Amino acid sequence: MSNYERKKTTPCCVGCMQAIKWIPVIFIASVIAWSYYAYVVELCVLAIESTFEKIAFLIFYHVICVLFFWSYWNTVFTPVGTVPSNWRIPESEIERLFRAESQEQQKRILEYCARDLPVTNRTLNGSVRFCDKCRIIKPDRCHHCSVCGTCVLKMDHHCPWVNNCVCFNNYKFFVLFLGYALLYCLYVALTSLEYFIRFWRSEFLEQGELTSGGMGRFHILFLFFVSLMFAISLVSLFGYHIYLVLKNRTTLEAFRAPIFRVGGADKNGFNLGKFANFQEVFGDNWKLWFLPIYSSTGNGDGLQYPTTTMHHHHHQQQQQHQEHQLQSNATSYHSMDDSRNRLDVQLPHPTDKLISYENTMHTPTVEVPNINHHHHQQQDVSLSTGANIDSAAINGNVIVNMDILDTTKSSTVENKANLADIHKLA
Ligand SMILES: [Zn+2]
Ligand SMILES: [Zn+2]
Repeated sequence: MSNYERKKTTPCCVGCMQAIKWIPVIFIASVIAWSYYAYVVELCVLAIESTFEKIAFLIFYHVICVLFFWSYWNTVFTPVGTVPSNWRIPESEIERLFRAESQEQQKRILEYCARDLPVTNRTLNGSVRFCDKCRIIKPDRCHHCSVCGTCVLKMDHHCPWVNNCVCFNNYKFFVLFLGYALLYCLYVALTSLEYFIRFWRSEFLEQGELTSGGMGRFHILFLFFVSLMFAISLVSLFGYHIYLVLKNRTTLEAFRAPIFRVGGADKNGFNLGKFANFQEVFGDNWKLWFLPIYSSTGNGDGLQYPTTTMHHHHHQQQQQHQEHQLQSNATSYHSMDDSRNRLDVQLPHPTDKLISYENTMHTPTVEVPNINHHHHQQQDVSLSTGANIDSAAINGNVIVNMDILDTTKSSTVENKANLADIHKLA
């Protein structure tokens, strides 16, 4: 996004702002570093008497600590997912967009710009979402982050504690970070509880085991309090994000439901069922679920997401139509609003792409033989060049958007491969 025009700010200001943004991260890192010292040195080495207990406590502590810090590191330092350049609105269209006289005209320009892009989300007034700062068409679930200064794929929220956007690229790491932070706090609190109580009763001081006792006592008392405090605040946050993962919802979407071209606003628009939702974030290899290693499924680019049948209201009719043809007269860009309305009536199922916008003369043919929604069978879907299927019925309730981005180049073979991928997903 480097060649976008940006407001000029003095370098000093930018530097100061950058430094300030790292303060919460430095604070968290300091707390972790101090807790490491307090736990390992003050508790395990100096306070615990039994050698067996010492070693057992230290081993488990280090395993949890490594996973916790690794997740935190990856959440902080994974670059946010940005929108690729083919989503950019060309300069000529930008001018037209800003000079447009009516909202309707703007809508038409945006629909035209998004004609080959797999977007199902719309704004409240039904227009294709775009960012005037980044000058791009916004992919589904993408939002502009004012702190990061860019559009972020599947943005969840901007988290100052990690000085990063929680988004498509690092959501798994973030959820793991919350989980391991909670585990870390609970482990530290539980293992230090006994010594906390002893110190509280001043038994150690009486026994004279810690002559420099004041400081050691102080560290362990605080270790217990701090870990308990963090555990309490983490429980609700972690629980909330587990809920969001299982609902396939971002924090932003929980506050404002995404609006679909077909079906309108729906908080559950991306909800494919608990396990499928979990897999969309954590992947299908269980060995990687608990490690902060990227393993999210899907096409992996964060640009498009499977949606529920709700947003394809002609689903039943579509299945009855074993074969149908889309007659698309090449119409000019300027008259596309009329042709779009005509197409919407004509089509047995809606497409997110406005085929009439195509400048080239062709007759796309979509053949969908033998779609059986009760049994998951091999489906042979062949597409002629230039056609796009917005939806394919899979498992009866999951609809997967399938868009062929480059209609002129995509071959039938590639389309079949895409469908095979989607089957795997479903
Ligand atoms: Zn933006
Ligand atoms: Zn951000």
